[in-house]
Amino acid sequence: MLIVQKVKDAKKYIAALKKQRKRIGFVPTMGALHAGHLALVKQCATENDIVVVSIFVNPTQFNNPIDLEKYPRTPEHDIDLLSTAPTYLVFIPLVEEIYPPDVDAPKHNFHFGTLDKVLEGEFRPGHFEGMSRVVNRLLHIIEPDSLFMGLKDFQQFTIVRSMLNQLHSKVSLVPCETFRERDGLAMSSRNTRLSTEQRALAPKIYKVLLEVQNRMGTMSPADLQQFALSELNAEPQFRVEYFNIVDGRTLQAVETFAKSNFVVALTAVFVGEVRLIDNIILKRPKQI
Ligand code: AMP
Repeated sequence: MLIVQKVKDAKKYIAALKKQRKRIGFVPTMGALHAGHLALVKQCATENDIVVVSIFVNPTQFNNPIDLEKYPRTPEHDIDLLSTAPTYLVFIPLVEEIYPPDVDAPKHNFHFGTLDKVLEGEFRPGHFEGMSRVVNRLLHIIEPDSLFMGLKDFQQFTIVRSMLNQLHSKVSLVPCETFRERDGLAMSSRNTRLSTEQRALAPKIYKVLLEVQNRMGTMSPADLQQFALSELNAEPQFRVEYFNIVDGRTLQAVETFAKSNFVVALTAVFVGEVRLIDNIILKRPKQI
């Protein structure tokens, strides 16, 4: 497994692989890796000759400086974990490499319409601008054939798809299912910041999402939203930012389940100081 810090070295290895006509799959991450990330790596390996994983805590996508400071960083553990998985190259750049002060990094003004204004966009201003900027920059460096991203970050996935469309990119975007702990809690690097008590409460988020799924035949989206909000708000350690039931393409609220063939319930909940997001696909189209 190659571990590379410099953009120029990453480009050199990638150029050699391209000459050999290897198919390159790319898994961008912010590190503090867990089994959910590894599932992406494994899926990527089944569809590509080469797996490239990046580890970069991207400062431009953090609207909250404390969140950036407290974001878990475990580079040694990450490298150990990746060495057990089919990874060919790990790219761990420094901030200066990704955002060099003296060089014009590829800049692109993306227009996401309302996609980046709702849900996370409402509560994390600038987050998707920073996220799309770094993904675009990484794509220029790695030049993969396919990009593997988790549906755990459903809105991020939707926005990256829009970005690739705007770039007329040939990169194929592959959705990966959410990996969960045994008790249903979606795996997240942020889970390590939960206290024992908070960790015991956190699975309630997914329980409520499942309960919404169970009731969707008998209740309207608006009533289900109210139901979910009252269930989550009943837990004093939770502070809910949103719980919305939306069309999976436009991210706009659906009035009835019949009106769309792609419906997703998404939520963001603070458990103590730790902000967790999760979602469930209530109506799934053939292709996401
Ligand atoms: P992150 O390091 O949190 O930025 O995540 C890197 C990639 O892994 C993103 O595409 C995430 O959507 C994905 N990911 C994070 N957690 C999970 C999970 N529990 N299951 C599946 N994919 C995940």
